[in-house]
Amino acid sequence: MKILFCASEAAPFAKEGGLADVVGSLPLELSRLGQEAAICLPFYKSVKKSGYKFSTISEEILYTDITKNIRVYFIRNDKYFGREHIYGDAQGDYIDNLERFSFFCQKALELIEKINFKPDIIHCNDWQTALIPVYIKTKYANRIYKGIKTLLTIHNLGYQGLFPKEQFLKLGLDVSLFSLEGLEFYGKVNLLKGGIIYADLLSTVSPTYAKEIQTQEFGFGLDGLMRRRNSALYGILNGIDYKIWNSASDKFIFRHYNLKNIKDKYANKEQLKKQCGINTKKDTILFGFVGRLAQQKGIDLFVSAAEEIARLEAQFIILGYGQEYYHNLLNSLAQKYPKKFFINIKFDEELAHRIYAGCDALMMPSYYEPCGLGQMISFRYATVPLVYATGGLSDTVNEGNGFIFYRYAQQDLLNAVLEAVNAYKNKEAWSNIMKEGLKLDFSWGQSAKRYLELYKRLINIR
Ligand code: ADP
Repeated sequence: MKILFCASEAAPFAKEGGLADVVGSLPLELSRLGQEAAICLPFYKSVKKSGYKFSTISEEILYTDITKNIRVYFIRNDKYFGREHIYGDAQGDYIDNLERFSFFCQKALELIEKINFKPDIIHCNDWQTALIPVYIKTKYANRIYKGIKTLLTIHNLGYQGLFPKEQFLKLGLDVSLFSLEGLEFYGKVNLLKGGIIYADLLSTVSPTYAKEIQTQEFGFGLDGLMRRRNSALYGILNGIDYKIWNSASDKFIFRHYNLKNIKDKYANKEQLKKQCGINTKKDTILFGFVGRLAQQKGIDLFVSAAEEIARLEAQFIILGYGQEYYHNLLNSLAQKYPKKFFINIKFDEELAHRIYAGCDALMMPSYYEPCGLGQMISFRYATVPLVYATGGLSDTVNEGNGFIFYRYAQQDLLNAVLEAVNAYKNKEAWSNIMKEGLKLDFSWGQSAKRYLELYKRLINIR
């Protein structure tokens, strides 16, 4: 089977979030399973700087081979993509994002005419490539594209690609598509909605999130549509890269360990405490948090419980970057309780690895979490996750391998933290929870097999 991945991000060329990891890893696993995969991305500034050598097909199309079997094609347009960032800067999203990504979607389709790779499936991702299923059944519904099936994966329904209605004409689509049954959404253009209607199949990044997006609470206004397309919607957990996230070989951590010498994890804890200026004589449980500082991630709930949490025999190291509101909130927390909360406002890959390895537990009080990588990463480092029961967190964490709270309320979070603090005091029981996590397998190999089943279903659709 030939699968063309179209996306706005893929590691190692352009990355802002989990999407880049999926598009950077899944094609490699599919190739291992005997499938033919290729990737198509915009040629951003960051791509130029990636250190790869690029060949040119035309002024507009470049490519590079990341493995013997996988070619990555790039659409070049410096006016649209030769910028510092992918979606926007400190002033906000780029105002021409509709133009940028509708251009990309059309060029990705036109690419197929010019290369020796006619896909059976185009695997689209999020709103930036959601127009591909729309175009392929409308403007590009001709002979060359006949028979190509589309899968749209929704990585986070909270981001839909909404634009003022005046911009609809720039899409080159018939005006009749700006309607309730098309891309219109409360008077605006909604690109993701178009993809959800037109894609042959839909997927999202965990089974629980696939159910949640059909509810009013998590549907961001598209729950009705998601319910209508329910029979086409699948939930497949993301994997993580087991070479990058590995307590036995991680280049960033102080001491390597695995099931047999799990106690060596504590050397990483000591080193992390030293690096972050955390002094405690006592054997105090150390919680970590690594994540984007956005409302979704549950910082508000955590801070609302902080007063009580600060009274417990526990310390917290937080690494995050995002909305200034949360930067300030967390900094004032650290000022108030300097011996309890250690805040790092930045994006720091190395420190992230050290936190995953050095902490005893990882906090993920996200209000919603389509898949979540942190909890799967923490399992790889025998770090015990503490999560709210939502989305992918529900599908990966249970009472045997972590701590989980079921009502999104301050008291319930507090109870879960208290439970972890108490459990930590029983070293044998704690060690058993750690080992449960280390034994799990959330590698891409597992997820790729699920995607392959889905692709097989997809090509059999009439
Ligand atoms: P999302 O895609 O919603 O941001 P995920 O849990 O799916 O959340 O993925 C987040 C990824 O980004 C994880 O690999 C996490 O380690 C990493 N990450 C998030 N914030 C930071 C940060 N400040 N420094 C280093 N890594 C970070």
